This record gives sequence, C-alpha cells and structure tokens, in this order.
Amino acid sequence: MYQASNSGLISTSSRDLNAFKMVKPKTIADAVSYLNDFDSVPVAYAGGVDLATAYRENKQIGTLVWLKEIDEISDITVSDDNLRIGALVTHGQGSANEKLACVRGLQESWGKIANVRIRFSATIGGNLMALRTSYEMPILLSALKARINFANKDGLFTLAADEMSQTPRLTGALLTSVDIPLKGKPQIDYERSMRPLYTQAAVKFQDGDNSLIRIAIATEHLPPYIFEIPERLEDFDQIFESLPPDYADLRLDNNYIRYLIPVILKRQIKRLAKGQ
Ligand SMILES: Cc1cc2nc3c(=O)[nH]c(=O)nc-3n(C[C@H](O)[C@H](O)[C@H](O)COP(=O)(O)OP(=O)(O)OC[C@H]3O[C@@H](n4cnc5c(N)ncnc54)[C@H](O)[C@@H]3O)c2cc1C
Repeated sequence: MYQASNSGLISTSSRDLNAFKMVKPKTIADAVSYLNDFDSVPVAYAGGVDLATAYRENKQIGTLVWLKEIDEISDITVSDDNLRIGALVTHGQGSANEKLACVRGLQESWGKIANVRIRFSATIGGNLMALRTSYEMPILLSALKARINFANKDGLFTLAADEMSQTPRLTGALLTSVDIPLKGKPQIDYERSMRPLYTQAAVKFQDGDNSLIRIAIATEHLPPYIFEIPERLEDFDQIFESLPPDYADLRLDNNYIRYLIPVILKRQIKRLAKGQ
C-alpha cells in the first residue's frame, strides 16, 4: 500500500485509509478535553472540507473530534457593541443571516467567498484554523478588528485575527467564536477581483465627525498587512511607504502591490460613500 503523504498520490478508495475513532462532544469543555488527549492523536472536524482532502492524502487521525453537536459554538448573536459569530457557522449561513446587517457590507463581502457547495459545509472556524494565507476570513476579520475566541485546557483566551499564524497556543485549542466590535459603526468593502493573487478589504469607522479607513491587504502567499488612514487623506502614496519592502511574493512584487493599493482603495472609498 502506498504512503500518499510521501508519494503525492491521492487515495481513491477508503480501503487505503486507516480506521479511526470518532467522538461527539456536546460541550466546549468536553471538546477541549478530547483535543488535549494528545496520545489519541485528536483532530477537530467542523465542516470537513479541508479535512476530507487531508485524510485522503494520509493525514493521521487517531480520534476525530466531531464538533457539530456543540450548540454553544453554532449561533450568531448581536449586542449593543458586539457581533458574535460561532465557530460552526458556515459561509452560507453567515452571509445569509440578517443579524450581520449591523456591519454594513459584511453579508455581501462574506457572500463572495467560495462556491455554493463549499459554502454549504465550510465553517468560519475551519477557515481560520486552516491557517492558510490563501483563505479569506483572516483578511475580512483583520480589517474589522475582530477578536477570535478560544478555549484550551488552561481556560479561555482571545487573539486578533492577524495574530493566529504566529502563536504556539493553538495546539489543543478549540476556536469557539469570532467577535466583531461594533464601535464606530464599521462598514466594509471587499475587493477580490484579482484573487488569488491579491485581495483588499477596507473598513470605514466613524469617529465623531471624522472617519477612519482600515485596510487589510493580502496576497495568495502573504498574511494580511494592515494600514489605517483618515478617510479624507489625499496623498495616499505617502501612507503606503510604510509597507515593508519585503512584502512581496513570487507572483506579485512590492512595487506592484504599492501601485495596486491606492487604485483599489479609491474605488472602495467611493463604494463605501455610496453605501451610507
Ligand atoms: C473548491 C474550494 C473552493 C474554496 N474557495 C474558497 C474561497 O474562495 N475563499 C476562502 O477563503 N476559502 C475557500 N475555500 C476554503 C474553505 O473556506 C475552507 O476549506 C473551509 O473554510 C474549511 O472549513 P471546514 O469547516 O470545512 O474545516 P475543516 O476541514 O473541518 O477543518 C479545517 C482545519 O481546522 C481545524 N478546525 C476546524 N474547526 C475548528 C475549531 N472550531 N477549533 C479548532 N480547530 C478547528 C480542523 O482540525 C482542520 O485542521 C475553498 C475550498 C474548496 C475545497
């Protein structure tokens, strides 16, 4: 029998794959307990979109921790100052949910991600925990100043969306929800016409009579980079000088990214103004 992980081959039959145990926790505490039993080689399963492929490529699964029965991480709730999206909310459910109207443009921006089949199963938690630079929720959520909530064996903790790729704390952690602060009445525009090469999210926040634009840019291979500028700024070039010279990948060089940001931003500012 071949080892798909070494050969690059994908198994076409379940007979090539190893059997595994499955557990179905109903609470966050039970899920965390399973995910920290490292001897059992636990793997969390949400929508399974990434995992199904990884398994066929011989990812080792000792115990599959089926998250879908944990009601606590399945809801969307809104309070005066916060929108909370549970980890198990799928792209389809999230972008169709009227509660998201508290962040103007969010339903439309989230609704641009993936195709119908994927949107039906893929969850916001799985998209973030995959830690792939080509996935888009980290870009939208970084622009929105979102906080990502986790539970692990030591308790609860929170990270910014753009901190997730740099922390060792995710081992054994369950992503429980995403909080989007509503202070400043955020309004988002997301441009992905150049995806997968490049995407750009712009969020407008009101601050008294002024407004601030927070911009998250990302390429297929680079994590989001964030800028904040006053909405009425005229000299965009000056601001983008702060982009590190090594923010570039094999397909997009730094000069081209510097050229793209203001071109797309001008369109976004117009669209954001129309949405008011
Ligand atoms: C054809 C196709 C098109 C796609 N298009 C896009 C696109 O346009 N834009 C985009 O952004 N993405 C796209 N994707 C990626 C898709 O969004 C992700 O595959 C999806 O979000 C993963 O979610 P899931 O729930 O299926 O995760 P799973 O496959 O269940 O899990 C993914 C990883 O996260 C872990 N995990 C999942 N949930 C949790 C949790 N709550 N706590 C801890 N660990 C967890 C799992 O153990 C696994 O390691 C596409 C995928 C496919 C196959």
